[in-house]
Amino acid sequence: MMMDTQLTIASMIKRTEQYFPKKEVISRTQNGVQTFTYKDIISRMKRLGSALESLGVKKGDRVGTLAWNHHRHLEAYFAVPSMGAVLHTINFRLSKEHLIYIINHAENKVLLIDEDLFPLIESIKDELETVEAFVIMTDNNTLPESSLHQVYSYEELLKRADNSYEFTAEIKENDPAGICYTSGTTGKPKGVIYSHRGIYLHSMALSMKDTLALSESDIVLPVVPMFHVNAWGMPFAATWMGTTQVFPGPNMTPKIIAEMIEKYKVTFSAGVPTIWLGLLKELEEGTYNTSSLRGLLCGGSAAPKGMIHMFESKYGIPFLHGYGMTETTPLVSVTRFKSYQSELPDDERLEILSKQGLVVPGIEIKAVNENGEIKPNGKEMGELLIRGPWIADAYYKGDSNSESFQNGWLHTGDVVTIDEEGIIKIVDRTKDLIKSGGEWISSVDLENAIMAHESVFEACVISVPDPKWQERPVACIVLKGGPGHQVTKEDIIEFLRPQFAKWWLPDDVLFLDEIPKTSVGKFLKAKLREQVENQLAL
Ligand code: ADP
Repeated sequence: MMMDTQLTIASMIKRTEQYFPKKEVISRTQNGVQTFTYKDIISRMKRLGSALESLGVKKGDRVGTLAWNHHRHLEAYFAVPSMGAVLHTINFRLSKEHLIYIINHAENKVLLIDEDLFPLIESIKDELETVEAFVIMTDNNTLPESSLHQVYSYEELLKRADNSYEFTAEIKENDPAGICYTSGTTGKPKGVIYSHRGIYLHSMALSMKDTLALSESDIVLPVVPMFHVNAWGMPFAATWMGTTQVFPGPNMTPKIIAEMIEKYKVTFSAGVPTIWLGLLKELEEGTYNTSSLRGLLCGGSAAPKGMIHMFESKYGIPFLHGYGMTETTPLVSVTRFKSYQSELPDDERLEILSKQGLVVPGIEIKAVNENGEIKPNGKEMGELLIRGPWIADAYYKGDSNSESFQNGWLHTGDVVTIDEEGIIKIVDRTKDLIKSGGEWISSVDLENAIMAHESVFEACVISVPDPKWQERPVACIVLKGGPGHQVTKEDIIEFLRPQFAKWWLPDDVLFLDEIPKTSVGKFLKAKLREQVENQLAL
C-alpha cells in the first residue's frame, strides 16, 4: 500500500514557499500595477488567515469574495481553504436578486469586497442574512463612507495580523475548499462545492504537457474572471508550479490585455471567445508584440473558426480550445494534436481546433441518446455524460440533483458528437438546438460559419417558433465598424449557401448594435430570443 497523504491546498503553497519565493505575482489594481514575490504573497496569505480567524471565521465557514482578478483575490484563494474555511467566489455581474440569493444560500459569514464593488453590496445589505463582516480590498488608506457596521480594511487587518500564523488546521482532502454558483441563465443559480482533492488533482491535470502544460517557466495572464469557476483553476495550478502570474485587475479592456501581454511577455492566457474577439480587434487596430504567447486557451462557448484562423495564421498565436462547466472544476477536454496529426494541412488542423478536443487524463466521458451510447463516428449525436475526481456529484443543498446526476454520471445538457479519434464536438446546448421539422440544426455551427465572414464581428443564431417547422433559425449579427462593412441579409445567406443544406439556412438575418451577454460574456440566447420575437412580432 501507499501512504495516505492528504491532497490539500495548504500543501500546495508549502511547495511554492519553499522553492519559488523569488518568483513574481504582478497585479493591476485601482491605483496601478504592483509586483510581489511569492514570499510576500504567501506571508500575506498567512496574515489573511490570521485576520479571518480574528473575525470569527472557523472551519467550514463560507467566506465570499466580490473581486476582480488581482493579488488580493489570489491571497483569498489559498488563505481561506488553507484555514479550513470555504471560498465562495461571487459573480458580481449576477442580477441583484441572484446575488442576494447566493450570498444567503451559501451562508457567507465574511465578504471580501473590492472598493468599487462595495456600493453594490451596500445596495443589497438589508437582504443579507448571514454576513457578519465586510472587508474592503483597497489600495487607499481610507475606507469608503458606509452605513454598514463591521466594515474593515483588508490592508489594516493584514498589518495587525499575527506574523507567526501558520496554516495548521486539520483538513481532509475531501473537505470543501470552494464553492461556485452556475450563472443561472435558466432558473436559480446552483452551487457546486469543490473539494481540496478535486482542486489538487485538477491543478495537476492543468500542468500536464498534453493539456495546458502550465509550468514554472510560464508567465500566465488569467483573463477569465476569478469568480468564473476559479479562473478555470489557473491561479491554483500556477501558484503551485511557481509560475509568474499577471493579474489584469478591474475593468480590463482588450487594450489593457494586449499591453500586458507585450509588457510582461505573457506566455499563456485564458478567456471566453468574446474576450478573444475583442483582443483580435485590438491587435488589428494597434501594433503589439505578442510573440511571447505560446498558447491562448479559449472556452466557455464555442470558439469561432474564423477567429482561431486569424490568431494562428496572422499573429502566429497557438490556439487551444477547451471545454468544461462550473460542475467540472472546469477542465474536461482540450484540443491537442496527436503526434501523427502534426503534419495535417491547415484546413484540417483548423477543423480539429474548432472542436472541443480530447478528454483529459483522469476524466471519463460517454454520450448517450434514446438508443443508448453513441458510436464514435463523428456523426451520431448524444448528451455528454462525465465522471471523474473533479466532477461534482451533487449541487449544494441538493438543488435539482435528480436531473443532472444519475448513476454516477454528470449529465451535462450538452449535445455532442465524438469522432474516431475521440475528439468531442459540442453540437449545441440541448436548449439551444433548433428543432426544424423533426431534424436538428446546430446554432453553434451556423454562428461559426457566419463569424468567418470578413465583415462580421459577432453572430448569434437562435430559434424562433414556426407554425410549419416548429422552429427555424434566425441569425443576429453585429457588423465590424468602419467603411467596407456594408452587408445585407442576402450577402450572408449567399455566404452560407455553399456550406450548409438548404433547410439549415436562417430564415432571417437581423443586424444589431450588440448581442446581449451573460454575466460571463456568453451570448444570452434567452434574452435575444425574446428581443427578436418582439421585433418580428411573433
Ligand atoms: P453557465 O452554465 O452558467 O453558462 P458554465 O461556465 O458552467 O456556466 O457553462 C458551461 C457550459 O458552457 C457547458 O455546458 C457548454 O454548454 C458551454 N461550453 C463550455 N465550453 C465550451 C466550448 N469550448 N465550446 C462550446 N460550448 C462550451
